[in-house]
Amino acid sequence: MSLIPRVLLSHKVPDFLAFLQKLWLNGENMTQPGQYLEKILTEMAYFDRQQQKALAVFDLDSTLFDVGPRLKKILHDFAAHPDFQKKFPRACELLANAETQRTDWGIKDAVMRAGLGDHGTELHNALREFWKQRFFSNEYLHFDIPYEGAVDFVQKVQELNCDIAYLTGRDIARMGPGSKEVLEKWKMPLHEENARLILKPQKGMDDAAFKSDWFAEIPENKYSKIWFFENEPVNVNLVRSVHKHIEIVFFDSTHSRQQEAPLDVPKIINFLFNKSEWEKMN
Ligand SMILES: [Mg+2]
Repeated sequence: MSLIPRVLLSHKVPDFLAFLQKLWLNGENMTQPGQYLEKILTEMAYFDRQQQKALAVFDLDSTLFDVGPRLKKILHDFAAHPDFQKKFPRACELLANAETQRTDWGIKDAVMRAGLGDHGTELHNALREFWKQRFFSNEYLHFDIPYEGAVDFVQKVQELNCDIAYLTGRDIARMGPGSKEVLEKWKMPLHEENARLILKPQKGMDDAAFKSDWFAEIPENKYSKIWFFENEPVNVNLVRSVHKHIEIVFFDSTHSRQQEAPLDVPKIINFLFNKSEWEKMN
């Protein structure tokens, strides 16, 4: 007899249904994003009522912001550059229509998809250099777009008097002013006191160590709760191994593929939550 009929005939039907529901909610650990975000906001509201401080830490690239449009603009600018049109005419034709996808990391995926699978060292080096100079620059950050619901969610976090930190692997010199401008442009809360932007002081620093060290500097009893929203498994894995009290929220967009995405932490794919319903309940 197969497993299902045997279970259905037994007195354990409610247990089995609960098990199925759990599987559905956590299938591949995919948390019901809206519900989970609403739960976080409810906790924040609770701490606020108790006059306790809480902190929400957000990564920027590929967590709050989709960097796909930045990447696409770089490829299109390469394609429109007269020097490259002269040197790589066919490649520029193809790159002029290049499109990016959510899971792209760096330029490789988009370049391959544009039809430049085997494109030779010269073009590869030119593209890479062009990309590097622009991707990590104040100017091109303006092409980033917040993921669905990100602006509303972060604003709601601020309304609940939860402190905010934007903790990014971007460095001050190349991307500091642009990061500030883009946060302000999209009306993400930003001010010295309790919605701070934290960038790497030097570009060569290791992202994961920089983030983990930053958490280590927080005085032990300052916050009743800390959440960390992050898309990069390398950062998630280090932070959670060192700072066990922090609640990790894995943002499933794209990552460096150096480490596996964590399977046992809540995973979200956007920041959408039912605002009016949540306000009615709270
Ligand atoms: Mg990131």
